[in-house]
Amino acid sequence: MTEIRFWNTMGRALETFEPLEPGRVRVYTCGPTVYGEAHLGNMRTFLFEDVLCRALEYLGFGVEQVMNLTDVEDKIIAGAVARGVTLREFTTPHEAAFFRDLDRLHIRRAARYPRATEHVPEMVDLIARLIESGHAYQADGSIFFRIESDADYGRLSGVDLAAARRGERVADDEYGKEDVRDFVLWKAAKEDEPSWDSPWGPGRPGWHIECSAMSMQYLGETFDLHCGGVDNIFPHHENEIAQSESVTGRPLARYWLHSEHLLVDGRKMSKSLGNQYTLDDLIERGLDLRAVRYLLLSVHYRQKVNFTFASVEGAAAALRRIDDLRFRLDHARERSVERSDLRGQAARLAEEFGAALADDLNTSAALAALHRFVRDVNVTVEEDRLGPGDREVARSALCEIDGVLGVLHREEWGGAALAPSAGLGESEIETLVAEREAARQARDFARSDALRERLREVGVQVEDTAAGPRWRRE
Ligand code: AMP
Ligand code: ZN
Repeated sequence: MTEIRFWNTMGRALETFEPLEPGRVRVYTCGPTVYGEAHLGNMRTFLFEDVLCRALEYLGFGVEQVMNLTDVEDKIIAGAVARGVTLREFTTPHEAAFFRDLDRLHIRRAARYPRATEHVPEMVDLIARLIESGHAYQADGSIFFRIESDADYGRLSGVDLAAARRGERVADDEYGKEDVRDFVLWKAAKEDEPSWDSPWGPGRPGWHIECSAMSMQYLGETFDLHCGGVDNIFPHHENEIAQSESVTGRPLARYWLHSEHLLVDGRKMSKSLGNQYTLDDLIERGLDLRAVRYLLLSVHYRQKVNFTFASVEGAAAALRRIDDLRFRLDHARERSVERSDLRGQAARLAEEFGAALADDLNTSAALAALHRFVRDVNVTVEEDRLGPGDREVARSALCEIDGVLGVLHREEWGGAALAPSAGLGESEIETLVAEREAARQARDFARSDALRERLREVGVQVEDTAAGPRWRRE
């Protein structure tokens, strides 16, 4: 089996990946805070996780992915209180928008999407165990994690809290803390805010504890992969590690994978900077989300992507080359008697593609392998060397890798099954017209009619005149 390597943020090194249980990978991915529409930066992270899970399946593993939904948090509470609705009433449309966005980018569903509000008893239980073991303490009805009790705090991010936080202002509702570095596990209820009962009075969980509780509930005290965007490394993941490992004494996850940010004009796309694009914004501007998915795939997850309209155009052009190949394959004849090298090319694609994914999910190298294949097959078709069965070999090679890419089948994205005439060069149209004419001359009318119909579908009209066939775009 191919050796798989991932860059582990824990330890900052490329490590050989081996799941705890042979053949099965358990993945926890931090999910959205459901209070507004996700922007393309958020979607980059979710897409990275989608491709990671698909790649692991391609490489032969069964994958169980869990993604939490953060449905209780300051902005959610403020929004619900302002509108006079319950938390659930407030978050339901945002949750629906999130799932719609996943579908729009063809991001496959995780096995589970547990909601924080449905796991409060598990969080209370974890907090109680932290108090019992001296890792947490109560102050004014809130509970805080005692950073000092965790000698290795900072092992993921390498943060030096002593330097980073000295003199930092303490939030109004965190005055009771023993140490400014401590973080909140449970917040005492404020008036008129939704709250849950606990042994320490009414309140609500802090953000970090939800991921510790839900990941361990569904995936066990130690699981294989924990993922998120790089901004999750500190404090979120660092705090998850401190809380979980203080209770269990075991590593929470064996490999920590983080995707870099999506930038706009060189700055992180974020709600607070006001430079965000939602998928609705992109659709409104006429962008093809299939090209957006391709663009995001074309950059390795540990590199920043600078989002520009020109780069989406570039991605669309790359896709057109693939669409054109599929179109040609559909129409080319398998008439060569010599053996073509197509089977060899398909085998090479599978090998290079798998090796690229195994190399820390190198999707840009995987796409390079695909484009090499496209070039090779184009040459075979152009030289009229397609032999019996080759069409199917090429098609299934593409289908196989599309299980990971999720982008090759135009028709699955609401486009026509064939390349548009705009995507077909004159020479390609000429070739099809000539093939149709040859079929007509050979009195193979079924084939000539089928070719005329294909051309019509891509907006090309063919007329037969005394001087031979003529064509025009509609
Ligand atoms: P949130 O809904 O804010 O909790 O974010 C959901 C996910 O999106 C987290 O894993 C973040 O790390 C990630 N994220 C936020 N902004 C960006 C960005 N500009 N680029 C990539 N990922 C991001
Ligand atoms: Zn999380």
